[in-house]
This record gives sequence, structure tokens and C-alpha cells, in this order.
Amino acid sequence: MTTDGPCHGVQERLTDAFLAREAPGAEDRAHAEACSACGALRADLRVLADVLDARPLPELGAERAAALRRRATAELSAAAAIRPATAGLPPGYRRELVRLLAWAALPLPAVLLVYAALFRFGAAFLADWLPAALVTAIGAAFALGTASWMALIYGSIPFVAQRAAVRRTAQRMAAATPLDSR
Ligand SMILES: [Zn+2]
Repeated sequence: MTTDGPCHGVQERLTDAFLAREAPGAEDRAHAEACSACGALRADLRVLADVLDARPLPELGAERAAALRRRATAELSAAAAIRPATAGLPPGYRRELVRLLAWAALPLPAVLLVYAALFRFGAAFLADWLPAALVTAIGAAFALGTASWMALIYGSIPFVAQRAAVRRTAQRMAAATPLDSR
């Protein structure tokens, strides 16, 4: 990717400017216009910047995380209000939790395998035309995005189990109560 002479420094600065989301310096811009190798790198970085701007990586923003937490808290207190007599976890919670965890863990190896393959393929593909530092940065962003979605999905399992246990108990109670005594 890099050659001898001024190109090495120019290409490093072009990449640094891209990573910092800044325009490259006037001297480097002038060099990139005159030099085909540096001009090609600058064009590639521009395309990549457009792609990243148009399609942001799946990232769980702080606002969305806070909204999800608020909703989970509200649902939990609503569920607690249904059964004020029982403090703590509803009956059947443990069973629901184990059932959901087993169900969620089943596809995990396949999901991780697909992500690892995507990651390797993406890194090998990008390594052909981007500097290693940039490939590492993109890989880190990809891994972070994936990790936040996994954390959201697996972190929500206890809430889902709690709701499922409450719903089952309510259904059992409704079924056991004769119509005229309600
Ligand atoms: Zn050059």
C-alpha cells in the first residue's frame, strides 16, 4: 500500500484525518491530486466515509438504552402491583429462566460462528486496500456493535422470564376461579 518517498507520510496523514473525521491538510490534498497512489487511497477513504455516514454501525445509543431500562422498570413494577402479597420473584420464575436460557443458548454457537466468519472475511477483504490501523478500527466498531446487541438480548432474559412466570400464574388463577365469584 505504501511506497517510498513522501507518499508514506501522506497516506498515514490521510488515514489519520479519515479516522478523526477531518479534512486532510492542504499540502496532502495537493499531493493526492498529483499522485495516483495517494489519490486512489483518498478516493477509497471518501467512499468508505460516505458508506459509514449513510449506514451507521448497529450501536445501542445511551438514549435508547435508558428508554429500554425505563420500560423494563415500569413493566416490573406493574407486574409487582398485580401480586402485592408476594415480595420478590413470582413462583415458577426459576423454571422460566432456565427454559429461556436454554432456548437462547441453543443458536449461540451458530451465531458466533457466522459473526467470526463475517469478521475474518471482512478483515481479509479490507486488508487488501486499507491500512492495518483502519481495518483494526473498523473491526473494533463491528465487535462493539455486536457485543451491545448480544448484551441487550441476553440481558433481557430475566425480565422476560419474570413476566412469563407472572402471566402463567395469572392464567392458572383465572382458570381456577369460577366465573360467578369474580
Ligand atoms: Zn503519493
